[in-house]
Formats: sequence, C-alpha cells, structure tokens
Amino acid sequence: MTNQIKEKELTIIGGGITGLAAAYIAAKEGAKVQVLEASGEFGGLLRTFEIGNNRLEYFYHHFFTHDKEIHWLIKELGIEHKLEYYKTTMSTYRNNKLYGFNSPLDLLKFRPIKWLDKIKFGFTSLYLGKLAKWEEYENVSALEWFQTYAGNSATESLWKPMLDIKFGPYAEKVPLSWMIGRLRQRLNSRKAGDERLGYIEGSLKTLLDALISKLTQMGVILKTNSPVTRLNFDPNQNKLLGIETENDSYMGGDFLFTIPGTTLSKILPEYHKLRKELNQIEYFGAVCVVLEMNKALSNTYWINVADPGFDFGGIIEHTNFIPPEKYNGKHIVYLSRYFDTKDPLFSANDEQISDKLIPQLKEIFPGFNISQIDKINIFRTPTAATVCDLNFSKKVLDCKTEYDNMFLANMMHIYPDERSVNNSIRVALEACKTMGISTIEIAKTNSLSGKIGFNN
Ligand SMILES: Cc1cc2nc3c(=O)[nH]c(=O)nc-3n(C[C@H](O)[C@H](O)[C@H](O)COP(=O)(O)OP(=O)(O)OC[C@H]3O[C@@H](n4cnc5c(N)ncnc54)[C@H](O)[C@@H]3O)c2cc1C
Repeated sequence: MTNQIKEKELTIIGGGITGLAAAYIAAKEGAKVQVLEASGEFGGLLRTFEIGNNRLEYFYHHFFTHDKEIHWLIKELGIEHKLEYYKTTMSTYRNNKLYGFNSPLDLLKFRPIKWLDKIKFGFTSLYLGKLAKWEEYENVSALEWFQTYAGNSATESLWKPMLDIKFGPYAEKVPLSWMIGRLRQRLNSRKAGDERLGYIEGSLKTLLDALISKLTQMGVILKTNSPVTRLNFDPNQNKLLGIETENDSYMGGDFLFTIPGTTLSKILPEYHKLRKELNQIEYFGAVCVVLEMNKALSNTYWINVADPGFDFGGIIEHTNFIPPEKYNGKHIVYLSRYFDTKDPLFSANDEQISDKLIPQLKEIFPGFNISQIDKINIFRTPTAATVCDLNFSKKVLDCKTEYDNMFLANMMHIYPDERSVNNSIRVALEACKTMGISTIEIAKTNSLSGKIGFNN
C-alpha cells in the first residue's frame, strides 16, 4: 500500500452495489471513504422486502457459476457458506403453448421453428456465444442479423419476442454485440446442457448487510437520506470543488458518481456540457409484480412469453429455483416487464397494474385461479438498464471526466455484457484503478464489462 493511496479521500455518490463495492475496494487499499445514498437504505436495485418469514429482492436476481467478481466479494465478506447453486428450468410460451426450452431435444420439439431454421438457430447461437468478436458487430442490428442468418421462423418466434420483452420500442436498434455478450454469459453457465444458477441464502440482503458491516468496521462513513443535489465546479482549475446535499456540503478529494447518468445530468449546472453527453445514454424502466401464492403456478423457473398481447414478458417462479420451504411454504412468482418509462403502464397505480396483468395469467395457465394469490407486491424502477443501441460504445463516457477529481462508474460501463451485480463489481474495481486507488486483481472471467471507458 503506497502513501499516496493512504492519503486519498474519496466521496462516492450512490449506495447501490457499484458504489458499495468501490467503497470496499478503496477502503481496503487505505483510502478515506464516504458514501452518500439518496434513499433511506443502501442497495439500490438490490433492495429487498419481507416475504414468508424471509427476504426477497424487489427485482428477481440470480448469479452465474462463472461470475468470478461476485464470488470474490462473497469470499472477502466471509459468507461463502451462504451461496447456493440450483439447477433451473426454462420454457417459452409461443403460439398459445408452453414449450420446455432446456436442451437440444427441446429445440427439436419446438414447433414454431421450422426444421432448417432449427439448425440455423443452433449454429448461430453457438457462433455468437463462443466465436464471434463483439467489436465487429457494434453497428449491426441483432434483429436484421438474425433474419439473415438464423432464419425467419427462429427470429419471429424467439429472438424478436426476446428483444421486444427486453428492450420494448428500442428492440430494432439493439446491436449484435449485446447479443454476443448475453449468449456468452448464458452458454458459459451451462454444464452438460443443464443450467445452474446461484443465489444467496436470505436474499441479497445477506450480502448487503455483510458489506455494510465490513465498511463500518473499516471506518467508511455511510450516509443514507443524502441525495446529492448540486455540483460546484472550479472552471479555472478543471476541478470539482465540491457537492451539496440539502443539509451538507462535501469539499475536497476525489468524487466517484455511481448514480444513473440521467440522474447525474439533472443535478449538473444547466448548461454543463457533460449533461448532453450523459443524456445520450437512455435508460428504460422495469415493473415487477411479485405474487405471494398458496399454490404453484408451474414447475418452471423462467418462462419467456413470446406471444404478443401480454403485459409481461417474463414469468419467473422464484420458488422453482429456491424451494418454497424457505418461505414458509409460500410460492413466489415475479411477472416482469421492461419498458419505456413514458409507457402509461409504468405510471399506473398498483391496482391498475394488477387488474391488467393478473387476468392474463389465465390465458397461459387455464387452471389458474385468483384465489391462489395471497398477496401482490409491485415494484418499479425508471433505471432498470441502459438502452444499448447501435455503436453504443462510442457514447459511453470515460470513467475519468475532464475534471481531475471527478469520476463516473455505472451501468453504461457494463457493455456489451448484460448489466449485473457481478459486472458492477468489475466496474467498481476498474474505477478504483482509474482513480489510482486499487492494485487488487480479481481473476478475469468472461466478463466483457469494465473495458470501455477505462484505460487500465
Ligand atoms: C428487473 C431487474 C432484474 C435484474 N436481475 C438481475 C440478475 O438476475 N442478476 C444480476 O446480477 N443483476 C440483475 N439486475 C441488475 C442489477 O440489479 C444491477 O446491475 C445493479 O444492482 C446496479 O447497481 P448500481 O449500483 O450500478 O445501480 P443502482 O442499484 O441503481 O444504484 C444507484 C444508487 O444511487 C442512488 N442515487 C440516485 N441518485 C442519487 C443522488 N442524487 N445522490 C445520492 N445517491 C443517489 C440510488 O438511490 C441508488 O441506491 C437486475 C435489475 C433489474 C432492474
């Protein structure tokens, strides 16, 4: 540890996993760190609520077996014994029918795809997941590429619905590079055809509690209810002089902003040039309706709804992943939907959302009865993920801004991979390196994140 590192003072804005992981890495290297979080608790998108005498994420979460960064953090925090892996299953609902989608045999049985297209689908998926170089496909629309190489029936019945579910109105613009990142992630989590996914016993609260307790022991100052509302620049020195919350101001040292770019843009001075650059990166929102049920809905963990006309794209039966016994016998199902925050459903109230979504379950599960549901919980976020469009990497801002002491690290740096907890830790580490704080090495994985915007 060098003296230079010891003397470093760092203020982190945003107490989601990126901010907290960066705080841990910086404090471990001897920096004096404080974290300012806008809301009443830390965790951001990893926040949880009580259900069945246990805790559960507002938004479904799982990890992959090859997620080295999160394994590293779990080990650092001494909670390896809490990490569990379970075999999971997947289905696709298409042409009014549920099809298992877990093996090559399932692909053969999937009637919506024609025979020749099944072969094309298999080869193109393997090619993208194993061989393709994402850099070469940044300006290629994934949908156009699938139409040309994966066949029309595979595109229409699988790829297009999947991109529609995930990106809504932005689906056409998603580059093939993003698909390469995603397929690589999914193919690498399979062994002999089976997929095993990870979860932390007691939910991500177990990880957050352990991390916060460790940060406190390390002397990190953690402040909730501290939304940063203003940034003061010194135009002559290329420096961020300080930041303000409603009641306090923080001056000196380095500042790492881990909040979404659109949020940062709003608190920048009106004509600041960073505003325009940050606004080029759009976010879309998500709604998760969490059903607390007295009877299982299906025997599948993850169902992609690939027929049009549904207001949810994923039916994620959490208790077909983590057994219901861990939730006092309750069955738990997420209905998930990603969308443009301008979509009226995003601003609809809980009752309107339930009234629209719940009856649609009957179309997929004719035996479903409303009496199976004991309670409905609804969670929303306007910043579920960034809209990765063509040539997205050119829009990604550098972690180091033009101000010597102002740094950025958020979801935009997770590209072309799918944004995740694991990749947020990678981005936090790369940000600490950029600030000259960290010498820590975590074994590189398949993660493609934390490369664009960092010159480490
Ligand atoms: C529906 C859904 C499903 C997901 N599923 C998975 C999954 O299965 N596996 C997985 O690994 N990942 C998953 N993710 C992704 C994962 O949750 C995110 O990648 C990760 O939590 C992002 O962390 P972050 O710290 O970058 O951002 P955030 O969690 O958004 O944290 C940003 C923090 O900044 C705070 N903040 C905002 N403005 C200010 C301000 N002005 N001042 C101070 N603080 C401020 C916010 O309150 C927030 O706490 C999922 C996400 C969603 C939405």
